[in-house]
Amino acid sequence: MTLQRQVCAIALLLTTAVSGMAGLSTEEKQARLRSLRTKAAGQTKLTTLDRAYLDAAEILTQQAPCSDFFGGEGAVLVLDKLVARLREERAPNSNIGLRMSGAFTVFADDEKQTTYRLFSDAELNTNGPFYRAKVFPADPFVPPVGSFRPNTRAARVLILLHELAHLIRGRNGNWLIPDDGGNVPLSRQNSEQVEARCGKQIRNL
Ligand SMILES: [Zn+2]
Repeated sequence: MTLQRQVCAIALLLTTAVSGMAGLSTEEKQARLRSLRTKAAGQTKLTTLDRAYLDAAEILTQQAPCSDFFGGEGAVLVLDKLVARLREERAPNSNIGLRMSGAFTVFADDEKQTTYRLFSDAELNTNGPFYRAKVFPADPFVPPVGSFRPNTRAARVLILLHELAHLIRGRNGNWLIPDDGGNVPLSRQNSEQVEARCGKQIRNL
């Protein structure tokens, strides 16, 4: 193997380690997520996003106020679709964990009795509380998520569950939490609402 090839191989390995879903289609990503849920933990090297996804899926399948709020097991299907569509991007605003934007399409899953929507874009900010906390004085402020410190396992799960609540329609015909784009106090209130239902299980992770 020439030196150049060795360098390429190492670069490829590093890329694979950073993101287990790089280069896969949305369908392939969904299939990978499903297989993560069925495989015994430890068989696959999990990324930070994989871990957060598995934590959220685990909470949604437990009989508790959290899964009731999300309407039962159909919520995991919507979580799969959300996570498979995430695009990791470094946004300058460190206040934002995950942002969904653009047009949305509504879907109905009759079998699971779940009505949900998907936005054309869902961006996971690599510069926000999912991945970052303020460590040094020169670092930008990164807010907590609900009552959880940024860049923690608990904060990451709450970020995913908050976005999921924007996607699922409740029995009253409204989305589980109201749209909060650009409205920081309402976004905080929405996180608090999801934490009120799911906080106990998140703290038990
Ligand atoms: Zn929100």
